[in-house]
Amino acid sequence: MLVFRQLFDPTSSTYTYLLGCSSTREAVLIDPVFEQVRRDAALIGELGLKLLWTLDTHVHADHVTGAWLLKQKLGSDIALSAAAGASGADRMLADGDRVEFGRRSLEVRATPGHTNGCVTYVLDDESMAFTGDCIMIRGSGRTDFQQGDPRALYRSVRSRIFSLPETCLLYPAHDYRGLTATSVAEEKKFNPRLGGEVGEGDYVGYMKNLDLPHPKKIDEAVPANLRCGQPGNEAGAPPDPVWAPLRFTFGGVWEVEPHWLEENLAKVNVLDVREPNEFSGPLGHIRGATLVPLGELAQRAKELPNDKPIVAVCRAGSRSAHATAILQKAGFADIANLPGGMLRWRAEGRGVEGGSS
Ligand code: FE
Repeated sequence: MLVFRQLFDPTSSTYTYLLGCSSTREAVLIDPVFEQVRRDAALIGELGLKLLWTLDTHVHADHVTGAWLLKQKLGSDIALSAAAGASGADRMLADGDRVEFGRRSLEVRATPGHTNGCVTYVLDDESMAFTGDCIMIRGSGRTDFQQGDPRALYRSVRSRIFSLPETCLLYPAHDYRGLTATSVAEEKKFNPRLGGEVGEGDYVGYMKNLDLPHPKKIDEAVPANLRCGQPGNEAGAPPDPVWAPLRFTFGGVWEVEPHWLEENLAKVNVLDVREPNEFSGPLGHIRGATLVPLGELAQRAKELPNDKPIVAVCRAGSRSAHATAILQKAGFADIANLPGGMLRWRAEGRGVEGGSS
């Protein structure tokens, strides 16, 4: 079985694909985005996967790859086409190579045209292919910069992608309308640039007259991507908080473990967002906790002390997760949720004030 997730970066309209082997939990990530590394690492952790490789389909001009940053965080290796001309990769891929993850693998197909180093990754059973900026849903990558060559792109699509089974699903690196996938049969029939009876000369004529604006991030993205996403002089990744060993969830919340909180109660302000009757009810509350029910939090956030980080707590950890979002909006920087809330706190036998035993 295959673990498969399609992830989206709204700033650059980039799709990132996570593929994992369900028996060995080994995984690869295609076209990660630098700014989304925290999210992607959280998902990989929650799914219990081990990231072996990050794979870029090409040297992108519109976003910086997350390959280098994921290597720092998760120890994954970096692979991309040798023809991409980048430095800092652990493996330089050539046409026909296979990248294995557990019992599954991807075949590397050279599909130049958008850039020289563009590749398509084809799943072992040819049920899915990740086409980068070669063929896109009812469209294609542009061919007017970075060694772009419409003739090469046309031939790549016709000989390397349209030769896949008709049912093979195609997943592009971008879509600007929110469309998520297509198939070989569909694009053969309906792709206005590359399908049907469109010939090489027709495609060249189409592409020469697109008149697209210069990509906004190209001057920053291409040099960084030629280093596999290692930051240069520009600002690097936003630093992770260091006041506690926090974990970031795929749901977008920072969490702190109950055992850390119990040992470090003096270093934080505990904010209980339950109702007053719960606060004084049978579950009790954490010593020194301030009570502000969730419904009043947005209005009363200004009352809260900002001298220490805040840990939000409720009965089961869900209202308090929402509380961290409210506090963030109110300008608090160091905040975390207590996962499992008072239920887990009590189940682990941690100290409470009040409540019944
Ligand atoms: Fe591109």
